[in-house]
Amino acid sequence: MRFSKNVFLLLLIALLICSASAAQAAHKRADFPPVLMYHDVRETALNYFDVTTEDFAAQLDRLKADGYQTLSMEEFVAIVKAEGKFPEKSVLITFDDGYRGVYERALPELAKREMKATFFIFTDALTQQGGDYPYITKEELKKMAASPWVSIGSHTRTHAHLEQIDRNQQQEEIRGSRELLEKWTGRKIEALAFPYGGYDKSVIEAVRAAGYEVSFAVQDRGLLHEEAKYSIPRIYVGLELGKNHLDTFANYVARYKKMPAELFVERWEFLKN
Ligand SMILES: [Zn+2]
Repeated sequence: MRFSKNVFLLLLIALLICSASAAQAAHKRADFPPVLMYHDVRETALNYFDVTTEDFAAQLDRLKADGYQTLSMEEFVAIVKAEGKFPEKSVLITFDDGYRGVYERALPELAKREMKATFFIFTDALTQQGGDYPYITKEELKKMAASPWVSIGSHTRTHAHLEQIDRNQQQEEIRGSRELLEKWTGRKIEALAFPYGGYDKSVIEAVRAAGYEVSFAVQDRGLLHEEAKYSIPRIYVGLELGKNHLDTFANYVARYKKMPAELFVERWEFLKN
């Protein structure tokens, strides 16, 4: 009787230790590999969020030369789910919105080097054609989704300010875009990027409830009590990296885990100052 009581106590203690260490293993911000955020890739840059094809190719070469391997979103999510350790020198390359310039120029550069990237698409973009910044078509999305170098994520339906809309609209944006992308690509959509990097507690709750495993921001808005995997900051790669963009770029990547605020500045805010 006494023996079994002791065994029970030991089991209880073991269980408590196990659950405590599992809780400790959840990823913190500094556990994540550097995450880069691009928008369009063009022959000539028109806007602060553009990168030229030449600069983009040079940045990929620099990542390779510095010993980085690219992760697909599926690989990234698998490590998050297992609460595992990311490879020492890994990097996540992401593109927002779904511009055709990325399909035409970035994708061949990635494929040539066998490097992986994730494309966050807002689903209404596929019906908006023309203008200075044309978007991909549904057919092009399907072709992209079939590439071994491509992962697809959601960027909502209408590119909404998620923190400014009501719960029903959030559902439509977050859950609705996921369902459409899964239907169109035949792939599981497990990641979302917040348009304008905008989120708050209720947005994170909606993202989690819709079944996403991770979501990405731009700045760190300091919701440290929330799970880090639902507000992962990204380095804004654009024209403002300036003339010495390669060294600045490499420096940003190397400093990501220290999370200095200037890496995550949204460029339009940067331009205002
Ligand atoms: Zn966007």
